Amino acid sequence: MSKVTWPHQEAKRLRSLVSEQPMIFETGYGPSGLPHIGTFAEVARTTFVMKAFKEAFPDAKVRLIAFSDDMDGLRSLPENIPNHDKLRPFLGMPLSSIPDPFGQSASFADYMNGQLKLFLDSYGFEYEFHSSTQSYQSGIFDNGLKRVMDHYTQIRKIFVSTISKDKREAWSPFFPICAACGKIYTTRVVDIDPENYTLTYHCDQNAAAFKACGHQGTTPITGGKVKVGWKIDWALRWYTFGVNYEMYGKDLISSANMASKICAILGGKPPVLYKYELFLDENGAKISKKIGNGISMEQWVKYSPLGGILNFLLANPNKARQMGLPILPKIVDEYIDNRHKESAENPQSHCWFIEASHLEKSDLSYNVLANVAQNLSLRDASLLYKYALRYDPSIAHNAQFFQTLCDKVIAYVQDYEAQLPKEALVIDTSYTQYMPELIQIITETENFNDLEGEKIQALLFLIPKKYELNQREWFKFLYSVLLNKEKGPRLGPFLGILGKDVVLSMLHKISV
Ligand SMILES: [Zn+2]
Repeated sequence: MSKVTWPHQEAKRLRSLVSEQPMIFETGYGPSGLPHIGTFAEVARTTFVMKAFKEAFPDAKVRLIAFSDDMDGLRSLPENIPNHDKLRPFLGMPLSSIPDPFGQSASFADYMNGQLKLFLDSYGFEYEFHSSTQSYQSGIFDNGLKRVMDHYTQIRKIFVSTISKDKREAWSPFFPICAACGKIYTTRVVDIDPENYTLTYHCDQNAAAFKACGHQGTTPITGGKVKVGWKIDWALRWYTFGVNYEMYGKDLISSANMASKICAILGGKPPVLYKYELFLDENGAKISKKIGNGISMEQWVKYSPLGGILNFLLANPNKARQMGLPILPKIVDEYIDNRHKESAENPQSHCWFIEASHLEKSDLSYNVLANVAQNLSLRDASLLYKYALRYDPSIAHNAQFFQTLCDKVIAYVQDYEAQLPKEALVIDTSYTQYMPELIQIITETENFNDLEGEKIQALLFLIPKKYELNQREWFKFLYSVLLNKEKGPRLGPFLGILGKDVVLSMLHKISV
């Protein structure tokens, strides 16, 4: 049995629901911000469960609904979106009624939905995209909306018990869109007509960032004129699509409980739910976009093989996991270790989650490579790979994997070091004239790769001795151009580790 058991356990929990009908999995997306690590994590983990389910019940069908809550109103200006001046007049309106601030799509929501699809497609996820706005406007939700009206008293009773007393009287499950100003969060329901499925509202609720227009109107609750509050919206979705399985973050426990109750009131069967812990940074603090801690999706993709994040997400989601740039090497090494173990002990276990290729045992880790690149100031991934080959020639059997790993390590070290304070290097370029001669000396040293470090060190003294150069300045020059530092490891042994070809290619770059 594989170490990874939770997707299989989740698949078992769905056993009693297996039927001729497809098993419906859902993930939700809030399009007021761009897709991020949380979006990826939720879709990836749901996909793990779907795969485990398909393995356990090969004849069963599955569908993954990626639902975008794009009829939600924009309450504040999103930090990672430009052109705030263009957006400000539309605050309080549904995202699908707001022009695209990037000027590329029909609406803000369309742009964001497009970004979500691009994002999910780029990782090869299989899903069906559903837009909230389209679901409301096309009438798919009409039946469920009528049921909310039919069970108004019952829903109201369980809901208001969870909110403060002063808000209870004004509470309504319905959020009509004002026919005059188009805003959704400025309206207040003053009367409902369950016979005709209509309601009457006043647009008189001012917020700090947007104002009500004073309009008063009556509207049908169907056809996209009225949205329901989000916990009810969640239940409406489960009821309408027959969702069987959904994951949610620990911060949404009470919402998920409420939505389950309402789904049952509507006449639906609430889905099997799975609560996951939130991510923490390397210091145990909650990850926040404002602080920028943790590891963003862009950083994951830039610094780690995709398997690194998938492996990270495969660990038990019920345990809070730490992720931060300082511990990224450790996280990627867990992935590399797992791949060694999986291929050695149990080739059929969880490989199907990530990559199926065989990875031979090696001591070479992300951490070692990052240290080498950092301490030797290597900025060339092919150079780092050559170093790695000298360290462990067997990695040549997985050349592609380790070459990619070196690319990622170099990107990581480069960006990570860029954050550290820099010393301004003054390079005395007059020494460049001696490069062709140094290249010649090394080229003519047939047994360079077999020489001891001190013998190579002696070779480096030939030029300053011959031309009576300041030896300290000469080495300072060599460190500056080879390592981008004024000082470094003893050069002879270091160049010995790099080997003749690597040293020559580095020196050729300088002499150009
Ligand atoms: Zn209005």
